[in-house]
Amino acid sequence: MSQRVKVKQILSDDRANYEVTVKGWVRSFRNNQFIALNDGSTNNILQIVIDTENTDPATLKRITTGASISATGEIIPSMGKGQRVELKAKTLEILGDCDPEKYPLQLKNRPSLEYLREIAHLRFRTNTFGAIFRLRSSLAFAVHKFFNEKGFQYLHTPIITASDAEGAGEMFRVTTLDLKNPPRTENGEIDFKEDFFGRSTNLTVSGQLEGELGAMALSDIYTFGPTFRAENSNTARHLAEFWMIEPEMAFYELEDNMNLAEEFIKYVIKYALDNNREDLEFLASRLVEEEKQKPQAERSDMGLIEKLEFVVNNEFMRLTYTEAVSILKDSKPNKNKKFQYLIEGWGADLQSEHERYLVEKHFKKPVILTDYPKEIKSFYMKLNSDGKTVRAMDILFPGIGEIVGGSQREEDYDKLVSRMQEMGVPVEELSWFLDTRRFGTAPHAGFGLGFERLVLFVSGMTNIRDVIPFPRTPKNAEF
Ligand code: ATP
Ligand code: MN
Repeated sequence: MSQRVKVKQILSDDRANYEVTVKGWVRSFRNNQFIALNDGSTNNILQIVIDTENTDPATLKRITTGASISATGEIIPSMGKGQRVELKAKTLEILGDCDPEKYPLQLKNRPSLEYLREIAHLRFRTNTFGAIFRLRSSLAFAVHKFFNEKGFQYLHTPIITASDAEGAGEMFRVTTLDLKNPPRTENGEIDFKEDFFGRSTNLTVSGQLEGELGAMALSDIYTFGPTFRAENSNTARHLAEFWMIEPEMAFYELEDNMNLAEEFIKYVIKYALDNNREDLEFLASRLVEEEKQKPQAERSDMGLIEKLEFVVNNEFMRLTYTEAVSILKDSKPNKNKKFQYLIEGWGADLQSEHERYLVEKHFKKPVILTDYPKEIKSFYMKLNSDGKTVRAMDILFPGIGEIVGGSQREEDYDKLVSRMQEMGVPVEELSWFLDTRRFGTAPHAGFGLGFERLVLFVSGMTNIRDVIPFPRTPKNAEF
């Protein structure tokens, strides 16, 4: 028996005339002789040529799109167009049949992305999703590689928490109480003392607060894990369950934080360009096809790969919130009342339409906005000396809007407590967090990057549901 070899390896090997076993799924079967085999290691297929005359007709019938097979034979130079080598099969075994009448992924009818979401358990078998999930895996590896090379520690923060980190979003409650008949306190409220943890708990919306505790001892940490927000916003950029990367660095100020975030994003995109070329080229041509259906004005000026190279090779534009608001206030869509939310002046929260205007129309490159009004940002952000703005930074990307949210943290105990009181954040409950400011406090900073928004950008996809294997969104938790 020869060893199983993956298709990607066979296609990238210069040799021919050696024996292998391949296993995978049939993409198509032509002329009762040519099988196109895919095993998920690449989008490319290996052509298998079978000896039709000497193959049992019953077996031939079972070679259908989607069936799983094993074939052993010799890799030989191919006479046909489109491939350098092919497999001349000596033996062929059907491992798993696939009824062509019922299999939803026939080559003939190109299924829509919407339909594929309904069969998310099978969509890995398509070229588009094969490319996306190899890319996602590669980007995740690049995230760890980047931080590891920089000497960061990977810190696992809890998934079940008792705190709403920042009032970042609506939370999912975690409970073992009987919903039909929960224990009640004397005044009729649900008694969470009786609950599993003896208090009310929920799924984490961010690992930041715990991350800060780690950074205040280990210096540089990052988290990379699932985060949950029960926000009922059915947009193409929000999930109820998404993965977030949150580095936190002691002795970093806002400037250092921005530099790290920019270097990090460029590094992981470069990693994909260097290691996922084939899949990116496939996704780039998919995007061209998709954009053909849009009016000319809505198509992107750059191809996917060109756009990624542009981000890697150009500095992000950095400006303050105050500068951004004055640009927006004087912008055409604001004057012509084209924005849904008009910018009246300083203090307005920026909506996605404003972020995208700055990035896509005004600067035409990624933008880092800093120093937002304290009223629209979280309690833990460091107050500037103007008393009005905080050392926040958001990174805005074309087609996406906000991809990173971060800040320098308030390290001064008294200032932090007074911000908490002003904003109604329970000081008692967060005494463990405040201990870092009591015992050897230090300047520190960090940010959160939504992993799916990154994958969305790099893959050129337009809906966040298509870059996570099993999306969780309002009214949808199948599979
Ligand atoms: P947005 O304004 O887009 O809702 P946010 O201000 O709520 O974002 P943060 O709380 O700063 O976001 O979270 C940090 C990062 O996590 C964001 O920059 C974004 O990349 C990502 N993110 C936030 N909410 C979601 C979500 N529901 N689904 C996917 N990614 C998200
Ligand atoms: Mn949000």
